[in-house]
Amino acid sequence: NAILEIEGLKKYYGRAGNQTKALDGIALQVTDGEFLGIMGSSGSGKSTLLNCIATVIRPTAGKIVMQGEEIQSMKGRKLSEYRGKKIGYLFQNFELLDNLTGRENIMLPMSLHNIPDRESKKRLSRLAGYLEITDVLDKFPSQMSGGQKQRVAAARALIMDPCMILADEPTGALDSRNAKMLMEKLSGLNRDQHATILMVTHDSNAASYCRRILFIQDGRIFHELRRDMPGETQ
Ligand code: ADP
Ligand code: ADP
Repeated sequence: NAILEIEGLKKYYGRAGNQTKALDGIALQVTDGEFLGIMGSSGSGKSTLLNCIATVIRPTAGKIVMQGEEIQSMKGRKLSEYRGKKIGYLFQNFELLDNLTGRENIMLPMSLHNIPDRESKKRLSRLAGYLEITDVLDKFPSQMSGGQKQRVAAARALIMDPCMILADEPTGALDSRNAKMLMEKLSGLNRDQHATILMVTHDSNAASYCRRILFIQDGRIFHELRRDMPGETQ
């Protein structure tokens, strides 16, 4: 069953006569519990796609339906619940708040959404343990390694238990060891916690964790790859 359905999605930048067709008719479905990769070269439309799903930008045409609801028609409280609770975003450059500690960065979404103290502490310690960031929770981002920053950002993205994680080049700023660790964690969350992940990347090592990969070029999907995962029995 599809958790996310996209049809005829277009995003044109600029005015008629001088337009960039960043997305030019994207259709895709993401199944509940899937780890879907989207690959494409720089400028192919990957970030635009994620930003449309995240409601950061408004598409020119087409439909995005998350859990049966069309997101372009969401407003007010519904829209902020969607942004704050339904999706978790992971960025290439982490986007942590520099003047907050790791713990404060992770707790922020929960205080914005009035999650009771007891519950938020429980969620925090569970995620911090899993992501191996317990010992950096009281540090500021400037005192953390890239890998630690991205795992703190992952905890922040996951803390509201979103129905989907959107990851935009999450390994792009990491060395290969930290990239591998992050991917093992994301893939573990997908496998063991049934987390649904949509990841945009041009890192083929990162994409190798995905069971299905869509290839995008000039704002269109031109190829789909399905893979059997290592160690899996059919
Ligand atoms: P990718 O994430 O695959 O690198 P983007 O989605 O960032 O691709 O960009 C797709 C195309 O849209 C590119 O040609 C890019 O230059 C253009 N583009 C992206 N953002 C804007 C913008 N705000 N204004 C104009 N053109 C843009
Ligand atoms: P506009 O209608 O002019 O885009 P809004 O005040 O509705 O402006 O939205 C503010 C910002 O949030 C804009 O960047 C808009 O694209 C974006 N936005 C608001 N609601 C949605 C939505 N449901 N889906 C996508 N983007 C949205």
